[in-house]
Amino acid sequence: MSRPIPTRIYLTEEEMPKNWYNLRADMKNKPDPILHPGTLKPVTASDMEPIFCKELVRQELDDTTRLVPIPEMIQDFYLSYRPAALVRAYYLEKALGTPAEIYYKFEGSNTSGSHKLNSAGPQAFFAKEEGLTSLTTETGAGQWGTAMAMACGFYGLGLTVYMVKVSAEQKPYRKAVMETYGASVISSPSDTTESGKKILQGNPGTGGSLGCAISEAVERAVKTDKCRYVLGSVLSYVLLHQSIIGQEAKAAMDKYGIKPDIIIGCAGGGSNLGGLIAPFMGERLAGKSSARFIAVEPASCPSFTRGRYLYDFGDTAMTTPLIRMQTLGNGFIPSPNHAGGLRYHGMSPILSKLFKDGYLEARAESQTDVLAAATTFMKAEGILPAPESSHAIKAAIDEALACKQSGEKKVILFGLSGTGYFDLAAYMAYNANTLSDQIPTDADLEKGFATVPNIPQNA
Ligand SMILES: *Cc1c(COP(=O)(O)O)cnc(C)c1O
Repeated sequence: MSRPIPTRIYLTEEEMPKNWYNLRADMKNKPDPILHPGTLKPVTASDMEPIFCKELVRQELDDTTRLVPIPEMIQDFYLSYRPAALVRAYYLEKALGTPAEIYYKFEGSNTSGSHKLNSAGPQAFFAKEEGLTSLTTETGAGQWGTAMAMACGFYGLGLTVYMVKVSAEQKPYRKAVMETYGASVISSPSDTTESGKKILQGNPGTGGSLGCAISEAVERAVKTDKCRYVLGSVLSYVLLHQSIIGQEAKAAMDKYGIKPDIIIGCAGGGSNLGGLIAPFMGERLAGKSSARFIAVEPASCPSFTRGRYLYDFGDTAMTTPLIRMQTLGNGFIPSPNHAGGLRYHGMSPILSKLFKDGYLEARAESQTDVLAAATTFMKAEGILPAPESSHAIKAAIDEALACKQSGEKKVILFGLSGTGYFDLAAYMAYNANTLSDQIPTDADLEKGFATVPNIPQNA
């Protein structure tokens, strides 16, 4: 059978993008600057360099360079697992009986299982170039820690991962993968840092939290010679690296003259969505496209749909600089959800600004509906999706069904950010009908908002 558009569109090595795309350069209204929490003045490179690698700080503060050349060494690293296929979901379209064309960009075919390796590789590379010998980070669900363990294994750097204690206990195989790549994994809170010891004294027996793991990782980085801290989402330099997803998707679509009408992604801290939409949003901002963009988040952690656009800390220990973003408050504790990678109180400042200015739509979905959409997708397309990615699937299916109603033949593109092989507990609960959907009440949200620092918010 011959299809006018192939089921899988791959780029050749020559066609691979040579540049990351910095969407901020084309935003007339830029994200608000990151502030120093002491002075409330925009942070400078020297404020950030004790914690982060120099080149990453430079990228974070650069909101004017449009195209950032991908160093050749990173282009080579990307070739070890890219290009990621752009797949035409012929079987899903048929299962839904929709006239819409559905495409997805699958980022889960590397061992870490998600898009996070796209930024882990560059972060390890720039650290190596600077002459650092080790890195620290935190991991919640485990995908980011695994991606960093792979990248540090590749570049020969030491890595200490503070893994949220409950998560380390629930996902022993994640820990095993990281250790096999050479990382040292410490359950957080731990007695290896002052902040960990303090938390343990106050709450013996606690299962830990992402905020606490961040504090431990930052403390270790600052106190260790030739060591820095790396972060896997939210920051604009991470979205810059993740623009490889959108750059590839757009090049693959351009090969066949395909123009997406609707672009969808799940949003935790915003990196896979921000990376996927970057070049398409650039065209929309330039008035060259009228595509719609949809962020999908869990109803249990609704930073876009019920959050507020405020300056807030990135962590619960209130140690990071202040970032203006859609936030639920740094003290907001989302109820347990199997989409662990989407349980973050804040959101990328780039996406927050686009949302506030009306360029990005958002919707929140319950995990039961999301996993139901995942099973429809996997039966048709064969891939077992991560619960996080399944949020995007849910919205793509809804949009395709809307086309079935209206008879419109829209072109839908969504990001399939990862595989679900380490998330089988979620599918077990779904199959056993024991998944619950805990949606925060307005009173729960007020408690979170009360933890936002009390500073002039239009500073
Ligand atoms: C971490 C993760 C996410 C959420 O992170 P973003 O920064 O919002 O992309 C989504 N999907 C998968 C598979 C992840 O591992």
